[in-house]
Amino acid sequence: MSALPFERVALIGIGLIGSSLARALRRNKLAREIVACARREETLDKVRALALADRVTTDPAEAVKGADLVVISTPLSAYAEIGRRISPALEPGAIVTDVGSVKEAVIRDLKPSLPQNVHLVPGHPVAGTEHSGPEAGFAELFHDRWCILTPLPDGDAAALARVTALWEAAGMKVVTMDAAHHDKVLAITSHLPHLIAYTIVGTATDIEDALKSEVIKFSAGGFRDFTRIAASDPVMWRDVFLNNREAVLEMLQRFTEDLTALQRAIRWGEGDKLEDLFTRTRAIRRSIIEAKQA
Ligand code: NAP
Repeated sequence: MSALPFERVALIGIGLIGSSLARALRRNKLAREIVACARREETLDKVRALALADRVTTDPAEAVKGADLVVISTPLSAYAEIGRRISPALEPGAIVTDVGSVKEAVIRDLKPSLPQNVHLVPGHPVAGTEHSGPEAGFAELFHDRWCILTPLPDGDAAALARVTALWEAAGMKVVTMDAAHHDKVLAITSHLPHLIAYTIVGTATDIEDALKSEVIKFSAGGFRDFTRIAASDPVMWRDVFLNNREAVLEMLQRFTEDLTALQRAIRWGEGDKLEDLFTRTRAIRRSIIEAKQA
């Protein structure tokens, strides 16, 4: 069996990520048939209008019938129920993968309900925007970004190879790691920054009205960049924090200690400490630009 294309791909959840994948599948001819599944008819109407799939349904079990690849792209809180619903309808030998931002919880929620003869390959394309829904997607979202796969120790090598080929064909660089390690790395690179952005924007919102208009007016001073991150989907991010609790709390503890140290440096006028940190962080920004991840 060649790695690509897949015969029938079932996309369970067709928002920003699912629809971007649908576009990448179409553009690169990676699937002979695409079936899209969402909860709401309204979403499926958009999928029809954008011609993102060959068939649409609100029933996940119906969607996965005859599929050799199933990709779950819903908020994390929906995974356990989706696992239970698709399980009896999955084809023997089918590959089930996902795009969720947390990986240990995904394995916890999905693995128990999947039949033995189905291959689970958990994944996370590290690419996104603050927008949601099928109209927000675009095939280039994945270009030159990293996709992290967290295969199970007893996982099927051929299934891993096919999912790797899929994301590479969509333009991603693929790396594999242990799910717990993924969750720690993402806690610091993605989850904590979102928590900080939500906090700053929330604090500004709580300040009385007069000042609030000034906050918007002068937002180019830095606040604006946080508001973009804090505009991300509330349900998705609620689920990320609830499902990566330990790693986020650990990183938050370290962050709080560092913040207290900065607070102290400001109080005692220790300019050298501030300058030293800001010089190091500027170098990090440069290395991100050099790695073409800016
Ligand atoms: P999205 O644009 O909000 O789309 C979510 C999709 O899931 C919609 O099709 C929605 O259907 C469906 N859905 C929502 N709740 C459901 C439920 N309870 N049962 C079944 N289907 C449900 O979300 P997204 O940004 O694509 O994120 C999807 C996943 O990708 C999340 O797990 C997230 O962690 C991960 N991810 C996101 C990003 C990012 O930047 N956004 C990046 C990487 C990974 P309806 O429209 O019918 O409700």
